[in-house]
Amino acid sequence: MSARPLPPAHADLETVLVSATAIRRRLKRLGAEISRVYGKEEITVVAIINGAILFTADLLREIPNPVRLDCIRVSSYRNATRSHARPKLLQNLTLDLANRHVLLIDDILDTGKTLSLVVELIRKQDPASVKVCVLLDKRGRREVPFEADFVGFSIPDTFVVGYGLDFAERYRNLPCIGVLKPQHQNPPEWA
Ligand code: 5GP
Ligand code: MG
Repeated sequence: MSARPLPPAHADLETVLVSATAIRRRLKRLGAEISRVYGKEEITVVAIINGAILFTADLLREIPNPVRLDCIRVSSYRNATRSHARPKLLQNLTLDLANRHVLLIDDILDTGKTLSLVVELIRKQDPASVKVCVLLDKRGRREVPFEADFVGFSIPDTFVVGYGLDFAERYRNLPCIGVLKPQHQNPPEWA
Protein backbone atom coordinates (compact mmCIF):
# COMPACT_ATOMS: atom_id res chain seq x y z
CA MET A 1 0.00 0.00 0.00
CA SER A 2 1.21 3.49 -0.76
CA ALA A 3 1.55 5.96 2.11
CA ARG A 4 -1.12 8.34 0.83
CA PRO A 5 -4.39 7.39 -0.89
CA LEU A 6 -4.28 7.45 -4.71
CA PRO A 7 -6.58 9.98 -6.39
CA PRO A 8 -9.49 8.50 -8.33
CA ALA A 9 -8.43 7.74 -11.92
CA HIS A 10 -11.12 10.16 -13.11
CA ALA A 11 -8.94 13.04 -11.94
CA ASP A 12 -6.44 12.25 -14.71
CA LEU A 13 -9.00 12.97 -17.45
CA GLU A 14 -9.03 16.25 -19.31
CA THR A 15 -12.41 15.57 -20.95
CA VAL A 16 -15.09 12.90 -20.87
CA LEU A 17 -16.06 11.94 -24.43
CA VAL A 18 -18.69 9.31 -23.59
CA SER A 19 -20.36 9.18 -20.18
CA ALA A 20 -21.23 5.98 -18.31
CA THR A 21 -24.93 6.77 -18.82
CA ALA A 22 -24.47 7.22 -22.57
CA ILE A 23 -22.62 3.87 -22.73
CA ARG A 24 -25.42 2.07 -20.85
CA ARG A 25 -28.13 3.53 -23.10
CA ARG A 26 -26.24 2.76 -26.31
CA LEU A 27 -25.51 -0.83 -25.25
CA LYS A 28 -29.22 -1.54 -24.76
CA ARG A 29 -29.95 -0.39 -28.34
CA LEU A 30 -26.89 -2.16 -29.75
CA GLY A 31 -27.86 -5.43 -28.03
CA ALA A 32 -31.38 -5.20 -29.47
CA GLU A 33 -29.99 -4.45 -32.95
CA ILE A 34 -27.61 -7.43 -32.81
CA SER A 35 -30.32 -9.75 -31.55
CA ARG A 36 -32.63 -8.62 -34.38
CA VAL A 37 -29.97 -9.34 -37.01
CA TYR A 38 -29.24 -12.87 -35.68
CA GLY A 39 -32.89 -13.80 -35.03
CA LYS A 40 -32.99 -17.02 -33.03
CA GLU A 41 -29.49 -18.14 -34.06
CA GLU A 42 -26.78 -18.99 -31.58
CA ILE A 43 -23.88 -16.52 -31.67
CA THR A 44 -20.25 -17.44 -31.09
CA VAL A 45 -18.74 -14.31 -29.62
CA VAL A 46 -14.99 -13.72 -29.93
CA ALA A 47 -13.73 -10.89 -27.74
CA ILE A 48 -10.32 -9.32 -28.30
CA ILE A 49 -8.78 -9.00 -24.84
CA ASN A 50 -7.93 -7.10 -22.77
CA GLY A 51 -9.56 -4.02 -24.28
CA ALA A 52 -12.96 -5.54 -25.12
CA ILE A 53 -13.52 -7.20 -21.72
CA LEU A 54 -15.79 -4.58 -20.14
CA PHE A 55 -17.70 -3.82 -23.34
CA THR A 56 -18.26 -7.53 -24.07
CA ALA A 57 -19.39 -8.31 -20.52
CA ASP A 58 -22.01 -5.54 -20.54
CA LEU A 59 -23.14 -6.00 -24.16
CA LEU A 60 -23.72 -9.75 -23.81
CA ARG A 61 -26.20 -9.10 -21.01
CA GLU A 62 -28.29 -7.13 -23.53
CA ILE A 63 -28.37 -10.03 -26.05
CA PRO A 64 -30.94 -12.73 -25.29
CA ASN A 65 -29.71 -15.21 -27.94
CA PRO A 66 -27.83 -18.37 -27.01
CA VAL A 67 -24.17 -17.35 -26.90
CA ARG A 68 -20.81 -19.14 -26.78
CA LEU A 69 -17.85 -16.97 -25.70
CA ASP A 70 -14.17 -17.19 -26.55
CA CYS A 71 -11.29 -14.70 -26.27
CA ILE A 72 -8.26 -13.93 -28.38
CA ARG A 73 -5.29 -11.82 -27.33
CA VAL A 74 -3.54 -9.56 -29.81
CA SER A 75 -0.79 -7.04 -29.12
CA SER A 76 -1.08 -3.64 -30.71
CA TYR A 77 0.05 -0.97 -28.26
CA ARG A 78 2.83 -1.28 -25.70
CA ASN A 79 2.95 1.62 -23.24
CA ALA A 80 2.51 3.99 -26.13
CA THR A 81 -0.29 5.81 -27.86
CA ARG A 82 0.76 4.80 -31.35
CA SER A 83 -0.02 1.48 -33.03
CA HIS A 84 2.63 -1.18 -33.81
CA ALA A 85 3.36 -1.78 -37.49
CA ARG A 86 1.79 -5.25 -37.38
CA PRO A 87 -0.32 -6.67 -34.55
CA LYS A 88 0.83 -10.03 -33.16
CA LEU A 89 -1.32 -12.95 -32.02
CA LEU A 90 -0.44 -13.64 -28.36
CA GLN A 91 -3.17 -16.10 -27.37
CA ASN A 92 -5.33 -18.08 -29.77
CA LEU A 93 -8.96 -19.24 -29.64
CA THR A 94 -10.02 -22.51 -28.06
CA LEU A 95 -13.58 -22.89 -29.45
CA ASP A 96 -14.18 -24.47 -32.85
CA LEU A 97 -15.70 -21.86 -35.20
CA ALA A 98 -16.54 -24.07 -38.21
CA ASN A 99 -20.14 -23.47 -39.39
CA ARG A 100 -20.77 -21.04 -36.51
CA HIS A 101 -22.07 -17.49 -36.63
CA VAL A 102 -19.13 -15.54 -35.25
CA LEU A 103 -19.48 -12.06 -33.75
CA LEU A 104 -16.06 -10.52 -33.23
CA ILE A 105 -15.95 -7.78 -30.58
CA ASP A 106 -13.25 -5.16 -30.03
CA ASP A 107 -13.03 -1.98 -28.03
CA ILE A 108 -11.96 0.35 -30.84
CA LEU A 109 -11.45 0.31 -34.59
CA ASP A 110 -8.49 2.54 -35.39
CA THR A 111 -6.10 1.77 -38.27
CA GLY A 112 -8.03 -1.44 -38.98
CA LYS A 113 -4.92 -3.64 -38.76
CA THR A 114 -5.95 -5.62 -35.66
CA LEU A 115 -9.44 -6.49 -36.86
CA SER A 116 -8.23 -7.32 -40.39
CA LEU A 117 -5.75 -9.79 -38.92
CA VAL A 118 -8.28 -11.42 -36.58
CA VAL A 119 -11.01 -11.66 -39.24
CA GLU A 120 -8.47 -13.34 -41.53
CA LEU A 121 -7.63 -15.88 -38.77
CA ILE A 122 -11.31 -16.57 -38.06
CA ARG A 123 -12.19 -17.07 -41.74
CA LYS A 124 -9.59 -19.87 -41.95
CA GLN A 125 -11.90 -21.92 -39.72
CA ASP A 126 -14.81 -21.72 -42.20
CA PRO A 127 -17.43 -20.09 -39.98
CA ALA A 128 -21.02 -19.76 -41.29
CA SER A 129 -20.65 -15.96 -40.96
CA VAL A 130 -18.37 -13.32 -39.42
CA LYS A 131 -19.62 -9.95 -38.21
CA VAL A 132 -17.73 -7.30 -36.28
CA CYS A 133 -18.91 -5.11 -33.42
CA VAL A 134 -16.81 -2.29 -31.94
CA LEU A 135 -17.58 0.10 -29.13
CA LEU A 136 -15.69 2.98 -30.78
CA ASP A 137 -14.79 3.81 -34.37
CA LYS A 138 -12.09 6.32 -35.31
CA ARG A 139 -12.96 6.48 -38.99
CA GLY A 140 -10.36 9.09 -39.83
CA ARG A 141 -7.44 6.83 -38.85
CA ARG A 142 -7.94 3.86 -41.18
CA GLU A 143 -4.76 2.49 -42.83
CA VAL A 144 -6.40 -0.63 -44.24
CA PRO A 145 -9.99 -0.62 -45.50
CA PHE A 146 -12.30 -2.01 -42.81
CA GLU A 147 -15.95 -1.52 -41.87
CA ALA A 148 -17.57 -2.81 -38.67
CA ASP A 149 -21.13 -4.16 -38.83
CA PHE A 150 -22.09 -2.69 -35.45
CA VAL A 151 -20.60 0.51 -33.96
CA GLY A 152 -21.28 1.98 -30.52
CA PHE A 153 -19.92 5.48 -31.08
CA SER A 154 -17.88 7.24 -33.78
CA ILE A 155 -15.20 9.40 -32.18
CA PRO A 156 -12.59 11.87 -33.48
CA ASP A 157 -8.90 11.01 -33.90
CA THR A 158 -7.81 11.32 -30.30
CA PHE A 159 -6.31 8.80 -27.85
CA VAL A 160 -8.95 7.69 -25.36
CA VAL A 161 -8.98 5.63 -22.16
CA GLY A 162 -11.59 4.07 -19.92
CA TYR A 163 -14.24 1.34 -20.07
CA GLY A 164 -11.64 -1.26 -21.05
CA LEU A 165 -9.28 1.03 -22.94
CA ASP A 166 -5.90 1.53 -21.29
CA PHE A 167 -2.86 3.70 -21.23
CA ALA A 168 0.07 1.50 -20.12
CA GLU A 169 -2.53 -0.91 -18.63
CA ARG A 170 -4.11 1.81 -16.46
CA TYR A 171 -7.60 3.36 -16.61
CA ARG A 172 -9.44 0.27 -17.91
CA ASN A 173 -11.74 0.46 -14.88
CA LEU A 174 -13.10 3.96 -15.60
CA PRO A 175 -16.87 3.72 -16.20
CA CYS A 176 -16.69 6.43 -18.89
CA ILE A 177 -14.45 7.11 -21.93
CA GLY A 178 -12.23 10.17 -21.94
CA VAL A 179 -9.02 11.88 -22.93
CA LEU A 180 -6.09 12.04 -20.51
CA LYS A 181 -4.54 15.31 -19.41
CA PRO A 182 -1.27 15.85 -21.30
CA GLN A 183 0.81 15.34 -18.12
CA HIS A 184 -0.60 11.80 -17.78
CA GLN A 185 0.19 10.70 -21.33
CA ASN A 186 3.87 10.25 -20.58
CA PRO A 187 4.40 8.73 -17.14
CA PRO A 188 7.94 7.29 -17.32
CA GLU A 189 7.59 5.44 -14.00
CA TRP A 190 4.97 3.15 -15.57
CA ALA A 191 6.94 1.98 -18.57
P1 5GP B 1 -5.89 -0.84 -34.92
O1 5GP B 1 -5.25 -2.15 -35.20
O2 5GP B 1 -7.28 -0.69 -35.52
O3 5GP B 1 -5.01 0.32 -35.23
O4 5GP B 1 -6.02 -0.71 -33.37
C1 5GP B 1 -6.88 -1.43 -32.63
C2 5GP B 1 -6.35 -1.52 -31.22
O5 5GP B 1 -5.50 -0.43 -30.88
C3 5GP B 1 -7.50 -1.46 -30.26
O6 5GP B 1 -7.98 -2.75 -29.97
C4 5GP B 1 -6.88 -0.81 -29.06
O7 5GP B 1 -6.27 -1.80 -28.25
C5 5GP B 1 -5.79 0.06 -29.60
N1 5GP B 1 -6.23 1.47 -29.72
C6 5GP B 1 -6.51 2.17 -30.83
N2 5GP B 1 -6.89 3.42 -30.55
C7 5GP B 1 -6.85 3.53 -29.20
C8 5GP B 1 -7.15 4.60 -28.28
O8 5GP B 1 -7.54 5.71 -28.61
N3 5GP B 1 -6.98 4.29 -26.96
C9 5GP B 1 -6.57 3.08 -26.52
N4 5GP B 1 -6.44 2.93 -25.21
N5 5GP B 1 -6.28 2.07 -27.34
C10 5GP B 1 -6.43 2.29 -28.67
MG1 MG C 1 -7.18 -3.83 -28.28
